[in-house]
Parts: sequence; C-alpha cells; structure tokens
Amino acid sequence: RQRAEEALKKSEAKLRDALDAAPFPVAIVDLRDDNIEFWSLSAQNLFGHTAPTAAEWYQIAYPDPAYRQEVINRWKPFLETARSSGQVVNTGEYQVTCSNGSVCICELYAAFLNENLIVTFNDVTGRKRAEDALRKSEEKFRDLVEDINDIFFTLDKEGRFTYISPAVQAVLGYSPEEFMARPLGKYIYPEDRPSLIAAFHNVLSGAQRPNEYRVFKKSGEICWIRSSSKPIVVNGVLTGIKGIATDITEQKLAQESLRQSEETHRALVQGMPDIVMRFDRAGRHLFVSDNVHGMSDLRAAQFIGKTHRELGFPETLCQSWEEAIQRLFDGGAAFETEFTLEGKKGLIIFNSRLVPEYDGQGLVTSVLSISRDITAHKQAETEKIKLEGQLQQAQKMESVGRLAGGVAHDFNNMLGIILGHAELAMDRMDPAQPLFADLMEIRKAAERSANLTQQLLAFARKQTVSPKIIDLNETVEGMLKMLRRLIGEDIDLAWLPGAGMWPIKMDVSQIDQIMVNLCVNARDAITDVGRITIETGNRRLDEAFCANQEGLAPGEYALLSVSDNGCGMGKDILDKLFEPFFTTKEIGKGTGLGLATVFGIIKQNNGFINVYSELNHGTTFNIYLPRYVGKTRQMQAEAMAAPIAQGHETILIAEDDSAILEITTIMLEQQGYRVLSANTPGEAIRLAREYADQIHLLVTDVVMPEMNGRDLAKNLLSLYPRMKRLFMSGYTADVIAHHGVLDPGVYFIQKPFRKKDLAAKVREALDSE
Ligand code: ADP
Ligand code: MG
Repeated sequence: RQRAEEALKKSEAKLRDALDAAPFPVAIVDLRDDNIEFWSLSAQNLFGHTAPTAAEWYQIAYPDPAYRQEVINRWKPFLETARSSGQVVNTGEYQVTCSNGSVCICELYAAFLNENLIVTFNDVTGRKRAEDALRKSEEKFRDLVEDINDIFFTLDKEGRFTYISPAVQAVLGYSPEEFMARPLGKYIYPEDRPSLIAAFHNVLSGAQRPNEYRVFKKSGEICWIRSSSKPIVVNGVLTGIKGIATDITEQKLAQESLRQSEETHRALVQGMPDIVMRFDRAGRHLFVSDNVHGMSDLRAAQFIGKTHRELGFPETLCQSWEEAIQRLFDGGAAFETEFTLEGKKGLIIFNSRLVPEYDGQGLVTSVLSISRDITAHKQAETEKIKLEGQLQQAQKMESVGRLAGGVAHDFNNMLGIILGHAELAMDRMDPAQPLFADLMEIRKAAERSANLTQQLLAFARKQTVSPKIIDLNETVEGMLKMLRRLIGEDIDLAWLPGAGMWPIKMDVSQIDQIMVNLCVNARDAITDVGRITIETGNRRLDEAFCANQEGLAPGEYALLSVSDNGCGMGKDILDKLFEPFFTTKEIGKGTGLGLATVFGIIKQNNGFINVYSELNHGTTFNIYLPRYVGKTRQMQAEAMAAPIAQGHETILIAEDDSAILEITTIMLEQQGYRVLSANTPGEAIRLAREYADQIHLLVTDVVMPEMNGRDLAKNLLSLYPRMKRLFMSGYTADVIAHHGVLDPGVYFIQKPFRKKDLAAKVREALDSE
C-alpha cells in the first residue's frame, strides 16, 4: 500500500509538473468544498495571484460587483452543459483583473473530472487589442476614402467590383450598391472599352499607368474619368486590382475647348491670304504660316529659328524688318508699313501690320506680323492714276478743243470782213498812197490771226480738209526750202528720206502745218548752232510694240520723224506738251498751240505721235501716219496756185452775215462774175426761182438759221441740176463733211479767205466736171 501511495504521489507530481509546463493557465476546483485545489504556474504568472476558494477568486478577479454578477450569470449555464455532457465547454470571454490592476481578456474553458472542475484560461488580450486597432484603423481609412471626392474601388481578377466608395454617387449618380450590381463594361463609352480592358490586364500584369476614358452617368451624360490602379496581392497571390478614379470632365472640356480654339486659330491663320509671322527680339522667326511660299521658295518650317538675314533675303529688306521689329521691342505701338521684295517673279510689295505681344508684366515677348501681298493692288492703283490722268487729259483736250472751235468760228467771220475790206480798199488805192501801207499792216495782222484760228481749228479737229493720196517724201521735199528759211543758217537741216515709202492719204496743208510747227519748235530749242533731222520710213507695228504706246494700234504706218539736238525736255514739260496754250516761251513768242495743232491733225488722220526727249540731249517727235491701201493712180502733186482766175458765170451767194455777204459779193463781182446775193436760204430760193437764166454756182455758208447750206444746195439742185456747189465756213460742223472730210464733188473754202483764194476755188468748182 505504501508503494502504491508512493506511486500515486509520483504520478500526481508528474501531472502537476505537466500542467505547470503547459502554456495555458489551468485551475482545478474541488466541487465538494469549492476550494481551489490546483493553480498552475502559468496561471500564477498571468494573474499574479491565487485564491484559496472559488468564491474568493470571484472577489479578486472581478472586483466590480455588477460585472462579477454578470460573469456568474453567464458562467452558470455553461457549467451545467459541461457537467451533463462531460465535454470541454468554451464559456466565452471574460475580463479578468490581475494583481497589478491590469485587465486581461481570457477565454475560459470548463470541464468536469469526478468531483473536480477544471478551468483552462486562454489569454486573448493581445489578439483582441490587435483586432481593435485594426478595426479602428479600418474605420479611419474608410472614413477617409468615403469622404473624398475621388472614387476608390477594388475589382477582382474577373473585373467585378468588390468595393466602390460612395463618391460614385456624387460623380456618376449611382449608389455604390447600384453601381456594383452591373458589370463595369456597361458603364464604359463603347469606343473606350478596348483600351480600358487592355489597361485592366496591364495592371494585373504589373504595368501601372493612369488611363482616361469616358463613362456614362446615370443621367446618360458622359463623364471623363482618369483612374490609376495597382494589383492587389495577398500573401503573394494576385486577387484583383485597387484604384482611384477622378472625374476630369471639366478639365477635359477645358482642354477640348482650348484645343478647338487653337485649331480654329490655326485654321484661321493658315487659311488667311495674309502671311503671319512671329519674331523674337533677335528677329528670328518663331512662327510662320504655311502660305509664306507666296514670298519665298522656302517652306514655313525652314524659317523657324532663323532671321531674314540668315535666310538670305536682300539686305534692304532685312534692314527694314530689323528696324520694324526693334521699334516694337523698344516699346513702340503697333503700326503698318510696306516692304518690297525683289523676287524671282519680279517686285513684290507687302503691306505688313506689326503688333507687339506682351507677357503678364507688360514686357514685349514677341512681335507678330500680318503681311499682305499688295503688288497687284499697287499696280492697279498706279494704272488707275495713269488712266485717270489720261482721261482727264483727253477731257481737257476735248473741252478746250470745243471751246477753241467755237471761238474760231465767230472769229473767222470777223477776220473775213477785216481781210476782205482791207483788200478791197487796197485794190482801189494807189500803192504809193501813205494809207496803203497801213492797210497792208491790217491785212497782215488779219492773216496772222487767221493762221492762229486755223491752228485752233486744226487742234479741235474741225479743220476741213481735202485729203489726197500723197508720197510723204515728195511732200516733205517740197517744203525743205521753206523750212530752211524758217530755221535760219546756224542750224543744219538733215533730210533722210526712207526708201519705197508707202502712200498716205492726207491734206498736204496739214503736213505743212506739222512740219512748220515741229521745225519752229526745234529751232527754238537750239540755242546757237545745232542740227534738225527730218526722217521718213515705213513701219510695221505689232501688238507688242503697241502695248506700251497709248493710242497706237498695230498696223502699217509711214513714219515721219523730226529730231533736234536742242535743250530737250524734262518730265514736267513732256506731260503737258500737247496741251493747247501750254508754252514755256516768253509772252509774245509762244502761243502754246503748235503741238496742240500737230496733235489734232494727227488724230484727225488716225495717226499717232510720240516724243522721246531728254533734258540737254535733244528731242525726237515720231509721227505715225496710216498707210493708204487702195489705188494710188490718183496720186498727184498739188496744183500750182494759178494767177487770179476770172469768169463771167452767174453765182448765187447765200450768207447770213451781211458783212461777209457784202464783201464776198464785191470780190466776185470784181472777178467779172454775175452775182445774186441772198441774206437767208429762203431768199436764195426765191432768187433762184425768179432768175430766168442759168445759175452756174452756189456759194453758200454752211451754218445758217432756217436751213443749213447742204439742204439749201439740195433744194436748188432741183431747179438747176448742173449747178456747182462751193461751201464756205469757219468750220464744217460735219454738215457737209464726215469728220471733216469732204465728199467728192463738193467744194469748200475755209473762212476767212483772201480774194485770190476765193477766185481760185470758184474757178475750180466751175471748171469741174
Ligand atoms: P510754243 O512753241 O508756242 O511754246 P508748242 O505747243 O509748239 O507751243 O510747244 C509747247 C512747248 O513744248 C514749248 O514751249 C517747249 O517748251 C516745248 N517743246 C516743243 N518742242 C520742243 C523741242 N523740240 N525741244 C524742246 N522743247 C520743246
Ligand atoms: Mg511751237
């Protein structure tokens, strides 16, 4: 028995040692006396104290009576279960107060063994604390995540949402639950789906780059989202991705409108006909619009970063650009200027507006230039000014011509009377009488005046002419003697006739007027000695030659040119040369009618005159007279003026100016004619009716009240069909002539006339067939 007791003691001690060594505190309560039989070492270490009885343990471990009661209440039913089932029962967690005052949380297990209750403690204080901390921190982050405007989300590997923060409501209008109920793909703008799927797989495989895509809001609107995500790896295993998504719609819209406005501006700039450039302070191009090829062979890109000088533009252009740019960098205001560029296609003129560009501080950062090619515009302007000038000139010539023509007409009548009476008086007077010389002076003055009015009429193209087919060389040759006399001995007259001259059709007296005027002018231009050259030749003018010569038409012309080596003319004189009354000569010397007359004559004959002159180097007048094409048989020299021709035929004179009627009547009666004079056309008709015999010639004024000369002649022709007609007029008024050219068979005498001229004309008419 002793041995048996020994062995039991040993095994009990072994058991105790084993329980002491266990990590779980263990206590054994003897249920018969409620004494705590055993208190393992680890229990002592954990709680720091022991208790002799269970009741006392309750007092120490749960000092708060209320809690103590709660523990006892919770504990009781478990004990019953443990006793009846004979199993170890987890009775839950309790807060046990230790001897040092600290509280540890223990899980208590109860088991019954015979009359003993075995209580095992599992200290879960550490775990509990960690759980608590975790919960708190989770709460903190959740708060953070859910308060922020950006959306936080997690997705599993299949792309299903596992979490989305409530911000989704504010951004997309869905509650998180609503949102997570549908697959992600449903929300994404169709075009953005492929790239988003690719991005998702990229994130799963570790490549993390933010991406932007469009998402439909609940309202159906589109929302731009930028998200960045990372893979979620738990214990080395990839479970999904987490990320944050930001609403960037506003930013996107701003970007888009910026891009659009930039595009619009670019399109505007590039679409403009103007060339736009931007320069820095050194004059380097910062921007050049594409249409720059209008001024250069270089493309826009080749300008960038270079100055005009570096690009090899002409020095003058570079300088003006540099100055213009500098002016703005020096604080000058925007301005407009013109640049000219001598390009391959000729001179280009630009109008450029230069505008400074400022930074926030008001400092000039760059200069913008907007340049327009105004070459065509400029040309048109110059052309317009030229044309306007020409028109004005033409109008002036025209109106002066009309005025001159009008004055000359009346003036001619007066001169006719003066001249006629002077001549009559002289006829009746012995030339030895002292009054004869006075009359002579009157006649001379009247003749000079008549010359002047002739010039005016020529200029006004109102000179009545009888053009004949002539050879220019013969005509000029006939005048040389007279011209030599005119220019004096100090001046050489060279005559260079061209060979085989084409005929022209013109009144010889007009050639005469031209030659006299040009030679007198040439003489006046030569101070002491010099030379005048008269030249003729044939010229065939083509389009190209005529293009630059105003008024000249292509065709064949006889050229008559008169040159001198006199003083020449400057541009100011050349411009006004042909104007009537333009003269540089002193009063009494020049009338200013010479070249106006020449001009009028040439125009009347469909010709053309031009002048080459250089100050101090002489002058050349070239006169182009149209070649006459047609029969040249009639070409004839001017009939020599016959001595005063007389006759005995009957002549009817009609003239409304009684003074002229009188003088003309006297003149003709003196020649032996029988004269019927009528002061009006009516009277002329009456006289003609009453007259029994033949009337051989009608001499009539052209312009009369009641009836003009032509109609009178027509009227009388019915009475005297073989009657000849001689018209007299200061000008023609186109009644008997077309543009001053007489119909064949009609005779004409220019007022005023000398007696012998009248006599000759009358004879000519009477003798004609
Ligand atoms: P006028 O001879 O009466 O002055 P014109 O019409 O003949 O009038 O000439 C007008 C002007 O043209 C002259 O005053 C003169 O200044 C200039 N002129 C004409 N011909 C010549 C010439 N051959 N050389 C230099 N100047 C000339
Ligand atoms: Mg002159």
